[in-house]
Amino acid sequence: MSDDIRASIGLRPVINVSGTMTSLGASIVVPEAIAAMSSILPQFVEINDLQRKASAVIARLTGAEAGFVTASCSAGISLAVAGAITGNDLLAIEKLPDVTPEKNEVLVQMGHVVSYGAPVDQAIRLAGAKAVLIGQATSTHRFHMENAITERTAAVVYVVSHHVVDYGLLNLKEFVEIAHAKGVPVIVDAASEYDLRVFLEQGADIALYSGHKFLGGPTSGIVAGKKDLVRNAFLQNMGIGRGMKVGKESIFGVMAALEAWEKRDHAGIRERETGYLNLWKQMLDDRPGVTALLEPDPTKNPLDRLRVILKPEETHITAWDLADALARGTPPIIVRDHEVEHQYFYLDACNLHPGQEKIVANRLAEELDKARASNEIIATPIENRGKRRFDAVLRWPD
Ligand SMILES: *Cc1c(COP(=O)(O)O)cnc(C)c1O
Repeated sequence: MSDDIRASIGLRPVINVSGTMTSLGASIVVPEAIAAMSSILPQFVEINDLQRKASAVIARLTGAEAGFVTASCSAGISLAVAGAITGNDLLAIEKLPDVTPEKNEVLVQMGHVVSYGAPVDQAIRLAGAKAVLIGQATSTHRFHMENAITERTAAVVYVVSHHVVDYGLLNLKEFVEIAHAKGVPVIVDAASEYDLRVFLEQGADIALYSGHKFLGGPTSGIVAGKKDLVRNAFLQNMGIGRGMKVGKESIFGVMAALEAWEKRDHAGIRERETGYLNLWKQMLDDRPGVTALLEPDPTKNPLDRLRVILKPEETHITAWDLADALARGTPPIIVRDHEVEHQYFYLDACNLHPGQEKIVANRLAEELDKARASNEIIATPIENRGKRRFDAVLRWPD
């Protein structure tokens, strides 16, 4: 593409089949949000009034009483937790992360303490809270949670993610029931979820979303829920929220993305993406040692992904070496590889510009043909992969 800004600043023209990844620039921002952002950038506004307008849009789309826009969903976790700790005490807000008296414990199931690029519990601790982990990695029972709630408990956090353990834990309904029986507010991290209403409907007091994931808004977070709790989180903008602030363009951009979401042809988009997945599946299906399976999203977002499973004895390449070859190639193609040590990766069709699906199919075919023709099995030690990634970031900016 000749109008691709990336070439002119020396960036690789990556194609994203991994999902909405912060490390790749999240998602394709919808035209409505881009237009909204450029229209407001030259103007002055009274930010709290703009946030009041955002609150109305968020309330309409989510069913919440109120809402506001912050820097990210991660910021939303910190602000919501901070609000639960300080209430509307402006002095306590200024004192954070120091908390006295210590009503600052926040419960989270151990199987929910994942990394979305940074640890969930760190977003909690940033607010001066103590993250109290309940249960074990693959089991939480009512007794764990009931006994962990004390007079020091400020809130409980529930994480919805494909990264969390998806069996043996308390589901949201039980989690809410136990918390509410003791008068404790429930904060749900729903950063990457399509359904803007279901978590509040299931009793969450605050639901948090990323503006830049499925919504296709600017990098931002949405805090939605009960009015007093949302207000107490909003007040943190005079405290720890200052460093997490968003400008007028992001607030207005999220408003536009939310309104576009309401009107989006969700069925049409799904059909197009299913077409891409089927194209890739057909190309992979008759190849020796390759199995391609359409799989639904693990957190029930209305989309499928293609799981590409390799038998290295037949493909002559491991799943991670194939992923790396695609990422090194021209153009670079980034697959969804968080479980790649099991010899599979996923292809996610949600972030493609029309035409890129063919490039992905061709590059996959090319690398698989090349590997198949190789006399040896291309199999670098998986341990080196994580190390390489961290070595590279530790050299940044070199
Ligand atoms: C992406 C993600 C986050 C972080 O969202 P940001 O808006 O990028 O801060 C938090 N939690 C979950 C479950 C996520 O998927």
